[in-house]
Amino acid sequence: MSSRICLYCQRAQPDSAQNCGDCGMPLPTDRPQQRRQRRFLWFCIGLTLFCVAMMLWLPRSL
Ligand SMILES: [Zn+2]
Repeated sequence: MSSRICLYCQRAQPDSAQNCGDCGMPLPTDRPQQRRQRRFLWFCIGLTLFCVAMMLWLPRSL
């Protein structure tokens, strides 16, 4: 459980290694799902700000 598998050469690498010792490619991060969730959160914030800006910018028909 303490080792990670390189995505490129499929060899186990130590947990402290940032790059694969065999092929030199960067190893996957420990928590890619959390990083993806943070990106999705920023996407939602940006979308909300865009909607608010459009509501203020467009003329109100009602
Ligand atoms: Zn590798």
